[in-house]
Amino acid sequence: MIIDCHGHYTTAPEPLQLFREAQIKAFKEGKALPEVPHISDDEIRESIEQNQLKLLDERGLDMTIFSPRASAMAHHIGNEEVSKQWTSACNDLIARVVDLYPKRFIGVCQLPQSPGVPIENSVAELERCVNELGFVGCNLNPDPSGGHWTSAPLTDPSWFPLYEKMVELDVPAMIHVSGSCNPNFHATGAHYMNADTTAFMQFLQGDLFNEFPALRFIIPHGGGAVPYHWGRYRGLADMMKQPPLNEHVMKNVYFDTCVYHQPGIDLLVDVIDTKNILFGSEMIGAVRGIDPQTGHYFDDTKRYIDTLEISAADKKAIFEGNARRVYPRLDAKLKGMGL
Ligand SMILES: [Zn+2]
Repeated sequence: MIIDCHGHYTTAPEPLQLFREAQIKAFKEGKALPEVPHISDDEIRESIEQNQLKLLDERGLDMTIFSPRASAMAHHIGNEEVSKQWTSACNDLIARVVDLYPKRFIGVCQLPQSPGVPIENSVAELERCVNELGFVGCNLNPDPSGGHWTSAPLTDPSWFPLYEKMVELDVPAMIHVSGSCNPNFHATGAHYMNADTTAFMQFLQGDLFNEFPALRFIIPHGGGAVPYHWGRYRGLADMMKQPPLNEHVMKNVYFDTCVYHQPGIDLLVDVIDTKNILFGSEMIGAVRGIDPQTGHYFDDTKRYIDTLEISAADKKAIFEGNARRVYPRLDAKLKGMGL
């Protein structure tokens, strides 16, 4: 089967966005936060069937590891209470999608992070989403300030309470920033790529995976700039007296295939071990248009994998096997459904 490890509910029914706007307005005016609106199953069906589900079918994909819209997590807006209410509303909606289409979507949660608030305070939502909603992972924002990087690096012990819970629950995290409130960084064009590259370098500099050998991270968007500059990172690891990358970072870190052209995918697969690559498209997400050079959607990343001259076993690992290994709770669910 083909598992897309990276999809967001970018098409959630309008009441969710209206609620968010009302919530932010209430916070700014110092009023009580509004109630989360009821959204019907029909509204959810309509938002999914015309969009993600249609494209899954058109592209020949079986399922998506599905999380709330990343750019809308906006942890920098409001305060912890605002982030908690918004996060649980978004996660609950993902659970509703999964309940309606259990063979096509599986949930990954956003966390109720807020700048300056300890990550401990996000642990309860991770537990709720995994234990009660059946989610299989989380999205971790390394920069809840939205482009000002006020948090400690991901290797800092202040993050460890979340890592301990991730290991206990056996769930990975995708490193995923949200919107940028720093005009220097376009959200999806600069902030996302910067964060992917930054997270990798933090892992390279640190010794996190000695502390947490079972911890697993997916760095999305093809690993940011890392595969293209692989020689630089190998050289830096050498200069810093760190172990070679395949014995160090790459035992715990995976890249997805959200790279929107063939030469980029060719390079990714050429440079990075197959066991570290998970199929992903981030559909429907950052780049939604049709490539005039090919006539196909930029984010139809399966096409790029299909044309690779690699073994059938390697393709299967990228499309399915690696995701089942990195997300063991997904594997268990699929087996439970006879898949
Ligand atoms: Zn994403």
